[in-house]
Amino acid sequence: KQMHYHQLTLSLQLVPYGDKQKLLISQDITHLERIETMRRDFIANVSHELRTPLTVIGGFLETLSEENNTDSDVRQRALALMSEHTTRMQRLVEDLLMLSRLENAQNIVSEKNINIVEMLHDLSQEAESLSAGRHQISLNLATDAQLLGSEDELRSAFANLVSNAVRYTPEGGEIMLHWMIHEGQGLFSVQDSGIGIGSEHIPRLTERFYRVDNSRSRETGGTGLGLAIVKHIANRHQARLEIVSRVGKGSRFNIWFPVKRLILA
Ligand code: ADP
Repeated sequence: KQMHYHQLTLSLQLVPYGDKQKLLISQDITHLERIETMRRDFIANVSHELRTPLTVIGGFLETLSEENNTDSDVRQRALALMSEHTTRMQRLVEDLLMLSRLENAQNIVSEKNINIVEMLHDLSQEAESLSAGRHQISLNLATDAQLLGSEDELRSAFANLVSNAVRYTPEGGEIMLHWMIHEGQGLFSVQDSGIGIGSEHIPRLTERFYRVDNSRSRETGGTGLGLAIVKHIANRHQARLEIVSRVGKGSRFNIWFPVKRLILA
């Protein structure tokens, strides 16, 4: 017989013992070991992510404080880089706090009816500003159905996907935001004509700090936590994140919302 208790699975087995029987209780610890490995990796990753910006800032602080004859070009460049790396750490900490909030609170606190059409209009404006004219951005709003959920969380999930589309699509590419009802479910998607993702990477994209290309992610301000956050938020809304992509062609990130979350006009 197997007993499940939180993360533990205990196997109970009666075995002959002389003229009696004895009860063998065993525990499979592979699951616990996996959790422990994930925890260790996570700490190693966070430390690693913080080390570069701290080294850069520390180095420049030293230069600026030691050399009293530092010329103003060097000073300007040092300040610009220190500011860039500070922003990088701020982003990382914001994303870590967001993940920890999502992991700690099982339920959505402030659930309400959200006007998705309005939200997507806002997001396409934000995309325009991120893109700065480098992409063609469009909206495909096939329904005006509202969605029951957390406004902050959904905005953050959608904004993450939109910013990824901008960051991983070369100049001249197209980005489209969709909101529709498909086979009874609410479907939100961000579609881009960007660099695409190899199928071997897709199952791992929502892992914390998993990146296909480290330098591209960092250069464009990525923390490596965006899709982990999106996945969490989708799960909390009983929604499913689906990723369809082809290298060199582009990607489509779909979030499927169950009918019980839809408010049809
Ligand atoms: P990051 O901050 O690195 O963008 P994410 O968790 O948002 O972290 O995404 C994880 C990885 O998935 C990225 O590093 C990138 O390799 C890949 N990725 C995400 N969105 C796209 C996209 N629209 N097109 C191509 N690759 C993407």
